Amino acid sequence: MVAPMPFPTLLFSNMTAAPKAHHPFLCEDFHIRWSTLQSNCIEPDIEKALTDAATMIEQIATLSSTPTYENTFAALGEALEPLNRAWGRVSHLDAVCNNPQLRAAHNAMLPKVSTFFARIPLNEELWQSLKSYGETADSTQLSPVRLRHIEETLADFREQGADLPPEQKQRAAEIQQRLSELTQKYSENCLDGTNAWEKIVTDRSLLTGLPESALATASQSAREKGHEAAWRFTLQAPSFIPVMTYADDDTLRREIWEAYTTIGREAPYDNQTIVPEILALRHEFAQLIGQANFADHVTARRMAGSGGSALAFTETLHNKIVDAFEKEAASIRAFKASANEATNTLLEPWETAYWAEKQRRAEYDFDEESLRPYFPIDRVIEGLFAIASTLFGLRIEVRDGVETWHPEVTFYDLFDALSDERLGAFYADWHPRESKRGGAWMNYLTTGHREPEKRSPHLGLICGNLSPAVDGQPALLTHREVETIFHEFGHLLHHLCGEVEVRSLNGVNVAWDFVELPSQIMENWCWERESLNQFARHYETGEPIPEALFKKMLAARNFRKADATMRQLAFGKMDLDLHTHWPESGEADLEGFIQKCLQGYRAEYKTKSPSNIFHFGHLFSDPTGYAAGYYSYKWAEVLDADAFSRFRQEGVLNPVTGADFRHKILARGNAAPPAELFHDFMGRDPDPEALLIRDGIT
Ligand SMILES: [Zn+2]
Repeated sequence: MVAPMPFPTLLFSNMTAAPKAHHPFLCEDFHIRWSTLQSNCIEPDIEKALTDAATMIEQIATLSSTPTYENTFAALGEALEPLNRAWGRVSHLDAVCNNPQLRAAHNAMLPKVSTFFARIPLNEELWQSLKSYGETADSTQLSPVRLRHIEETLADFREQGADLPPEQKQRAAEIQQRLSELTQKYSENCLDGTNAWEKIVTDRSLLTGLPESALATASQSAREKGHEAAWRFTLQAPSFIPVMTYADDDTLRREIWEAYTTIGREAPYDNQTIVPEILALRHEFAQLIGQANFADHVTARRMAGSGGSALAFTETLHNKIVDAFEKEAASIRAFKASANEATNTLLEPWETAYWAEKQRRAEYDFDEESLRPYFPIDRVIEGLFAIASTLFGLRIEVRDGVETWHPEVTFYDLFDALSDERLGAFYADWHPRESKRGGAWMNYLTTGHREPEKRSPHLGLICGNLSPAVDGQPALLTHREVETIFHEFGHLLHHLCGEVEVRSLNGVNVAWDFVELPSQIMENWCWERESLNQFARHYETGEPIPEALFKKMLAARNFRKADATMRQLAFGKMDLDLHTHWPESGEADLEGFIQKCLQGYRAEYKTKSPSNIFHFGHLFSDPTGYAAGYYSYKWAEVLDADAFSRFRQEGVLNPVTGADFRHKILARGNAAPPAELFHDFMGRDPDPEALLIRDGIT
C-alpha cells in the first residue's frame, strides 16, 4: 500500500517563514525534530500554512507580470509545498503515534485542509491564469518533464470541473459534496452493521476444528464483554475467517455466513438506497465533464485509458482461466464427496473455505508456520538490502543518533554505490503498537531537488505490523510478512531512486494502475531459490530452507489460484459494469443486474450467494477510492509478473537488468506516461501470459 500526499508537492524556495521554533510542523530541516511536533502546534501551524498558501495562490491568480513557467505552474507547487509538508507530518503522526490530543487536533483541521484542496481547481482566476500560460507557452523552451507537468496539472484541474461554466461548476461542487456525505454514511453503515452482530458460544464442543489462536482470541473477546467460560465471534475478518475456514460445525459456519451477507442490507444500517444514488451522481459528474461514464472518467489518464479497455482486459483474463476455474470447482466437490463417502453435489457457499483448507492439507501437507524459523526479521532485512544493493547499484547503511518518532524506529541512509551520493534516507517502523494503525504502508516526507545545481536527498518511510519478538527469541516472520517487507521497500525505492526534476512528478505519484509495479515486483525475490538463499536461514542452525520444504511451499503457492483470480476478476467486472452500464440500463433491480453481469465469474452453489455491493468499502466508502479501479490489482500483477520474466531470463540477481529497471522505471516516476516506461524496460507492451505461467493456470 502506498499513502501519497493529498496534493502534489513542488518547489519551495522563497517564502518568508516565521521563526522555526514557533512552527515546528513547518520546519524545513531535513532531519525532522519529532520531539518538537506537539499536538498543540498542529492548529496554529496548519492555519498558518493554509493562510500562506492562499496568499501565494492569490498572487498566481492575479498575476501582473508576464506569465512564465516559474510564476505559474512552479509557483503553485511552491505555494502548496509547506502545507503538504506540515499536513504530511500530522497525518503520519496520526498513523503511528495516535493519542486523544493528536486525534482531536487532526480531526479539527482535516475538513479545512480537504476543503482547501477541493476548492483549488474551481478557483476561476487561478484556472484562467494557469490555462492562458499553459496553452500558449513555447514548448521548444520547456523541458519534456516541465511540459508534462503543465499537461498533467491542466488535466487534473479539468478532471475536477475547472473548465465548466459557473452554474455547472456549482453543480460539480454540489455533487462532490453530496458524494462525500453519502460515501461517509455508507462507510459508517458498513462499520456499524458489522459491529451490530455477535455470537456467544458457551458449548465448547461446537467449536471443534478451530485453531488454538482463534479460540484464545474468541475467549478473550467474550471476557471483555462480561461473558465467562464463553467464546465470542464477530463479523470482523480476524474472527470470522477462522470460523469459515476451520470450524467443523456446519450450522455455525452457515449462521455466520448469513449474518455476513446481510451487512448493509438491514435497517438501521441499510445501504440499499445509498448505492444507486452514488452511482447516479458519479455518472452525472462524469457526463458533466464530458465523459461517457464514470469508468471512462476514472481511467482516462490511467494506463488502461478507458473503461472499455479495462473491461476487455478483465474479460480476456476471464476467458483464459475459466477452464482452470471450473476444474478447481469440480475438484473440491469431488474431494468433499470422497471425504464424506457421499455423492458429489454442489457445495453451499459457507462450505468452500472449509473444504478448500481440508483439500490443501491433504494434497500439500504444508504448514506455513514451518517457514517462520527461516525468517528472523534482522536477517530478512539484511538480505533485502543486499539484494537491492546488488540489483540496483545501491548502498544502505543504518544511521544512529537521528531523532525518530519512537525508540523502535530505525533510520537509514541510501547511497548510489558508484558515485557515493546520498540519494535519500528513510525510517523503518516494523512492529505493532497500540497507538499505530494496522496494515503496512510506505509514505514520503520530503521530495529532494534533482536539478544539478541544488540536488538534495529524498526522505521516506516504511511501516508495518509484523510479528514481534517473543520470549527473548528474535521476531520470526511468516513468508507473507517477508513479502510485505519487500513490497513496501519497492514503493520506497520508487521514491528514493527518483530523478525527476519536477518534484510532484517524482516516485509514487504515478497512475493508480502502475503504482504497484515497483512494489509487487519485489515480492518475486521472496520465491526464488537464489535470492532466498541469501537470507532465509534457520535462526538457530543457520541452515537454508530444506529442499523438500521449499518444494511444498512452491506447490502450495498456486493451490486454487484460478478461484482466487476469478474472485478478483469478478469484483473488477462488477465494478466496471456498475460504473459503465448500470446508470443507463433503465433497470430497477441492482442485485439482479449484478447477478447477470457476474455470470461465468462465480462458482455455482446450492444456495445463491448475494453480491457484496452493500458492504464493499473499496467502491463506495470514498467519493472515488477504488471505484472503476478495482481492476488495477490484476493489472499491476500482469505488469510485475511480465517485468520479472526479464529478470528470470537474464538472471534474478543480474545487476545490468537491475540498473535498467532502476533507470527506466524507478528513476522516472511520472516523467512520462507509464505505458512508455514499461515499453522502455521490456522493449514491448505488457503480456498477460507471464502472470498465467506464474500462477500455474496455463
Ligand atoms: Zn502497495
